[in-house]
Amino acid sequence: MNKPYDYLIVGAGLYGAVFAHEALQRGKRCLVLEKRDHIGGNIYTEALEGIQVHRYGAHIFHTNDRRIWNYVNQFASFNRFTNSPLANYRGEIYNLPFNMNTFHQMWGVTTPEEAASVIEKQRAEAGIGEPRNLEEQAISLVGTDIYEKLIRGYTQKQWGRPCTQLPPFIIRRLPVRFTYDNNYFNARYQGIPEEGYTALIAALLEGIECRLGTDYLAGREHWDALADKVLYTGAIDAFYDFCFGPLQYRSLRFETEILDKANFQGNAVVNYTDAETPYTRIIEHKHFAFGTQEKTVITREYSVEWQPGGEPFYPINDESNSALYARYREKAEQEEKILFGGRLAEYRYYDMDAVVAAALRLAEQEFTS
Ligand code: UDP
Repeated sequence: MNKPYDYLIVGAGLYGAVFAHEALQRGKRCLVLEKRDHIGGNIYTEALEGIQVHRYGAHIFHTNDRRIWNYVNQFASFNRFTNSPLANYRGEIYNLPFNMNTFHQMWGVTTPEEAASVIEKQRAEAGIGEPRNLEEQAISLVGTDIYEKLIRGYTQKQWGRPCTQLPPFIIRRLPVRFTYDNNYFNARYQGIPEEGYTALIAALLEGIECRLGTDYLAGREHWDALADKVLYTGAIDAFYDFCFGPLQYRSLRFETEILDKANFQGNAVVNYTDAETPYTRIIEHKHFAFGTQEKTVITREYSVEWQPGGEPFYPINDESNSALYARYREKAEQEEKILFGGRLAEYRYYDMDAVVAAALRLAEQEFTS
C-alpha cells in the first residue's frame, strides 16, 4: 500500500531541516515532527526588544568550506560578525582565543619568541610529555598561568569534571596563535544570519509540512506507518528505550534579562573563567548583530548536570559513554528503514557547518543509490 510520505523527519533542527529541504528538491514527500513548540532545535532564535536572542546558547556560524558557506547563504543573509570573546578572571580582562594579546596581558611580553619561550618554560616545569588529558594538553599548549586563570575554572564548570578527567580534544577546538588576532575561529567564513537562525530554518523548511509539539517516540507506530523511511535526529538512547542504559550529557540553564540600558558589557560574549562565579559566560545578544536598540538583552549561562528528562546539550565523549554509544550505534546500523543523524543521534560535539555537511552527505547517499 502506498504511504502518504516518503520521509518522516523527526526533529526540526539544522540537520533535519537540511535533509528535508534536499528531499523536497528531489520531489520526495516529507513530514517533519518536532517535539518542541518551535522549529530550529538549539539554534532557535527569538526577537526580544527587537534583538535576536539565542535561546539555547550562542551560535556563530563558521566554516572553511566554501560549498557549505554558499549553501547556507541561499537561505539567509549573514552579517560580518567575528567572534572575539573576552575572559573575565576576577575582574581582569583577557582576549580569547589564546593569542599575542592574551600573552601580552598575562606576561607583558611583546614578541612571539618571548611568548613561546614563557610557554615552553612552564610546560617543561610541569613535566608534560604526550598529553593524556585536558589539563596536560592545555599546559602543553599555553603554559600553567593561562591554564590556571583562563582554562581550569571555566572547563570544570562547563563539564562538571576535573580537567584531568576530560579528553584533550575538547581544548584543541580553540586556536592558539602567535599573532595579535582575536578571532575565535580559524574559519575562512563566519557570520550570523541577519534575521536570526529561526528564519534560516524556516527558509529550509519552506513548503514542507511540519508538526510542532509532537513527540514521535510517544506514538511511534502511528507515525512509522505513514512513511517509507524515517530520519531520526533525537537522542539515540531514547530511540532504543535506554535498553543499554542512558548516555550522559551536560545541560545548560539560561537566565535571560532585559536591561534598561543600551550596552551592558561591550562585547557579545564574556567568559567568567574563575571557579567561583556560578555561570560560565554572559551573552549580550545585540552585539552579535551590531544592534543599536535602546535596551539590551543578556543571558547568563550555567552549565548543569543533565538529569533524565532534561534538555541534553553536550554529549560527554568520555570512555564509558563512547563505549555505550558504540552499542547503540551497532543497533542503529542494522536498521533498514531508519536513518540517524545530528548531534543527539550521533552523540557528537558538532559544529553547525559539520552538521550541514553531514546532512547533505546523507541526502546524497539516499538520493543517488
Ligand atoms: N575554554 C576554556 N576557557 C575559555 C573558553 C574555552 O578553557 O574561556 C575551553 C574549555 O575547555 C571548553 C572548550 O575550550 O570546554 C571549548 O569551549 P567553547 O566555549 O568554545 O565551547 P562551546 O562554545 O562549543 O560551548
